[in-house]
Amino acid sequence: MALSRGLRCCQRAFAWVPVAIIALVVLWSYYAYVCELCLVTLSNPVEKVAYLTVFHILFVLFVWTYWKSIFTLPVQPDKKYHMSYADKERYENEERPEVQRQILAEIARKLPVYTRTGNGGIRFCDRCQLIKPDRCHHCSVCAICVLKMDHHCPWVNNCIGFSNYKFFLLFLAYSLLYCLYIAATVFKYFIKYWTGELTNGRSKFHVLFLLFVAVMFFVSLMFLFGYHCWLVSRNRSTLEAFSAPVFQNGPDKNGFNLGFVKNLQQVFGEEKKLWLLPVVSSLGDGHFFPMRALCEAQNPLLANEEQWEDDGIDEETHDSNEASSLAIERET
Ligand SMILES: [Zn+2]
Ligand SMILES: [Zn+2]
Repeated sequence: MALSRGLRCCQRAFAWVPVAIIALVVLWSYYAYVCELCLVTLSNPVEKVAYLTVFHILFVLFVWTYWKSIFTLPVQPDKKYHMSYADKERYENEERPEVQRQILAEIARKLPVYTRTGNGGIRFCDRCQLIKPDRCHHCSVCAICVLKMDHHCPWVNNCIGFSNYKFFLLFLAYSLLYCLYIAATVFKYFIKYWTGELTNGRSKFHVLFLLFVAVMFFVSLMFLFGYHCWLVSRNRSTLEAFSAPVFQNGPDKNGFNLGFVKNLQQVFGEEKKLWLLPVVSSLGDGHFFPMRALCEAQNPLLANEEQWEDDGIDEETHDSNEASSLAIERET
């Protein structure tokens, strides 16, 4: 018992190692840029002030979004999704799987859940003992069910989901800008040190290394950010990109795709002035998400609008959309 608790403690401490590595690199980049480049290497005072001002704005935005991604706790489903004591007893005492499925379907009838398991059953987490809301998944690292779970990120030691997806995207965007700015401003001095025009040995090491690290992070983050931009534009989570959500009439990878602008609004909110700030502005409460099929059922005219067009959707998916819209219509 004590051994397993000790092991869990070690595991939890070990999970902070990637965050500590990032924090150390960021602190060193701050020292190298501010002290070694701006204060020691730069001689023009106007250039010094301009470089430092822009650097600090980007640094604050970068650290702020990183902080929010790490410390915004993933949201668990509401109490009403948890099984009541009586339901739990009834479910556990039942051995026939088909009756268990019926019990879950009965409980889920009063909840707004539209996604299903691969075999058409209600999605149920037996570890958390709850009916999973749409887009909710169980994270084995955090050992909880997380609303609109995207993935568990070791670099922020946190689950990326409904509560912090916007922060995570902004963190990627600002870290890209931070790296790009460092690389662009350091490049001139990198050449000067390289060609021997400047000779300060200690600063030379920091400036050369600064450019190398900035370019390395920029390239790797660019792919990740590009992928997430694509996911946001389709209103898909990373998990949904790997395995399409299943609706009553089968899997539909575009089930939550509402069109480009509405997809952006789902994550960033309707107020454009808040889009670039790390403040909560995502639409909804993470339990229910508007669906393409449901919107089309409410307003059939929208089905023909250009905003629904999507080159990536094949005929088969389109057919399943129509079918699922009918199924949802019938249920509501
Ligand atoms: Zn769970
Ligand atoms: Zn997690």
